[in-house]
Parts: sequence; C-alpha cells; structure tokens
Amino acid sequence: MNSRFNLVLIVPVFNEEDSVALFVSETQRILKDYLPNIFLVFVDDGSTDKTVEKILELQQDNNFINLLKLSRNFGKEAAVSAALDTIEADAYVIADVDLQDPLELVLQFIEVWQTQKVDTVCGKRIDRSTDTGTKRITAGGFYYIFNKLSGRVKIPANVGDFRLIDRRVVEILRTLPERNRFMKGLFAWGGLKTVEIPYVRPERATGVTKWNYPKLWNFALDGIMSFSTLPLRIWSYFGGFVALLAFIYMLWIVAKTLIFGVDVSGYASLMSVILFLGGIQLVSIGILGEYLGRVSEEVKRRPVYVISEIFGNIATQIPVQCYGSGIVVHGKKNHDE
Ligand code: UDP
Ligand code: MG
Repeated sequence: MNSRFNLVLIVPVFNEEDSVALFVSETQRILKDYLPNIFLVFVDDGSTDKTVEKILELQQDNNFINLLKLSRNFGKEAAVSAALDTIEADAYVIADVDLQDPLELVLQFIEVWQTQKVDTVCGKRIDRSTDTGTKRITAGGFYYIFNKLSGRVKIPANVGDFRLIDRRVVEILRTLPERNRFMKGLFAWGGLKTVEIPYVRPERATGVTKWNYPKLWNFALDGIMSFSTLPLRIWSYFGGFVALLAFIYMLWIVAKTLIFGVDVSGYASLMSVILFLGGIQLVSIGILGEYLGRVSEEVKRRPVYVISEIFGNIATQIPVQCYGSGIVVHGKKNHDE
C-alpha cells in the first residue's frame, strides 16, 4: 500500500465524552502505523458534556488529533460538511465515534481506492441483526421509496456515511449550494465511480445513540424531498383522475334524474365522498407545506454551520476559509495589541 497521501478521518461528535478516548486508541492501534499522514479531525457538534475537554486532553499526547468546534449543535450532516469544506486532503474517511464503523475496514477502503482507481469506497452493512425489527423494516422501506421516487440519483441500500472519498468527490460537494445536506444523496449525486465493501456493523461500543424515530422520520422526509418532486406533482394527476370519475358520475346522476325523477336519499354516499376528498385535500396541502417549509429554509441561505474554533496542527496548515456553504469565524483578536 502506498501511504504517501494525506488522509483525513472525519469524526462528528455530539456528547460523546465516554467514546472519544477509546476511538483515539483504536485509531492509533489500527491505522496510525500504516498511515503516517493520517489526520484525525473531530468535529464537535455543540456538545454540552466534557467531549471537547477530553479531546483537547488526548491531543496533548497525539499530535495527529485535530478539532473543529461548531458554535452549537447543527446536526451530523452539517458537522461532516464543515470538515469537508475546510480541510484539504487527498482522501477523506467519515466514521462514527462509537466504533460502529470498523476501522480495520479503512485499510481495505484504501487498498481498493488505490488499486481500482475509484472515487468512493463505502461500507455496506450485510447484516442488520444488531438493529431492531422495526428499524430494519423502516430502513428497508426508506431505501425502496427513495430510489423509486428519486429518478436518476440512486442511493445503495444499507450504505451509511461510513466511506472513503477521493478529493474529487469533495470538490463536487463544495459546489452544491443546498442548506439541507442529505449527505448520502449528495454523495450519489456526483455520480463518480463507487465500490461497496460488505461488513457487519457491530453495536455501539460506548455511549448512546443520538437518533430516535421522530428524528429519523424527518431525516427520511428531508432526503426524499430534496431528491424528488414527485410527491408534489402527483396531486395534479390524482385530481385529474378524481375529476374524471366525478364527471362520469355527474352524467349518470343527470340521466337518472331525467328518467326516474328527483331522488333525495344518498346522505351516506355524499358524506363519504366529502370526507374522503376533504382528507385527500388536507394530505396534499400537508405535502405542499413540507416542501414550502424546506424551500423557505433554502431561500434564507443561512450558513450550514459555524466553526467557532479550530485546534490542532491542521489549524496552521489549512486556509481558514470555507469553500462550501458554512462559515468559519476567525479567532478572537487581542485588543491590547
Ligand atoms: N452526531 C453528531 N451530531 C448530532 C447527532 C450525532 O455529530 O446531532 C454524531 C455522533 O456523535 C456519532 C455520529 O454522529 O459520532 C453518529 O451518531 P449515532 O451513533 O448516534 O447514530 P447511529 O449510529 O445510531 O445511527
Ligand atoms: Mg452509531
């Protein structure tokens, strides 16, 4: 393996004080010897516990550790974007701090990246037995629906953010201006060559998951709505279909009235039609609202994240400038100078 390249290992952390030390020692043990040019970049996503202190402590003995500190919690997707936007490297790996993304696999990623000359190598979970049945079914349903609706951009099932990406992918990502960073979709949008490597995802080694079903639901909607307008457009076809049925029914009623005279019964059928159509209209307005809310987020064009501080060697090596859609606020000035 040729190891003369810069690799940045991006690890977003949010209240992970119990996980960072183990992660650093595992990185040291599994990767550091093979990869002299590896930079570990933690992105602190507004932790309220001792995560930042723990990382800075670990940094004193390990100068390959770096920390981008976001000014508050912006979400994992924004945290990953912050590192991709500001740090220059030949390749990037995105991993969770809880060791659910096995670091041994990174060596395999590099091997494939170098020998097969691909731009992305991602880990594909072949066994979701550590997930609950509901999680498996909902995840499977999400990938199915996303790929049915998204048109040209397809995301592979059971592939998360754990992957190695070439700098070429990052250059593409930096040109995508959207605020809603559904990373899996954005990675796929670029369309460069991707290879999947199967792996078994272990359970979280330390700490607790930051996800719950309401969050996952919104995440799924974000993904679908930023890659498909079909839920929005379907209503004109549905409306046309219902109008056609209504027209046929109208002809039938007119004919029936002319032949058999006025008939006042029909309360039940009238009620069911009104309630059914009322329900459908509310659903379609709701979907309009979901899109409109997201459009309003986009048009405000607020930065995706705010990097408030940068710690580590990398701080002196990278231009403190953002190439993507966030902002780096420069260090505090000393007013006595
Ligand atoms: N994370 C983050 N910001 C958030 C939520 C999570 O940076 O708002 C980080 C978290 O610290 C972890 C990674 O994203 O390193 C994945 O989170 P988690 O393990 O909770 O997700 P799961 O693996 O359960 O999908
Ligand atoms: Mg995890």
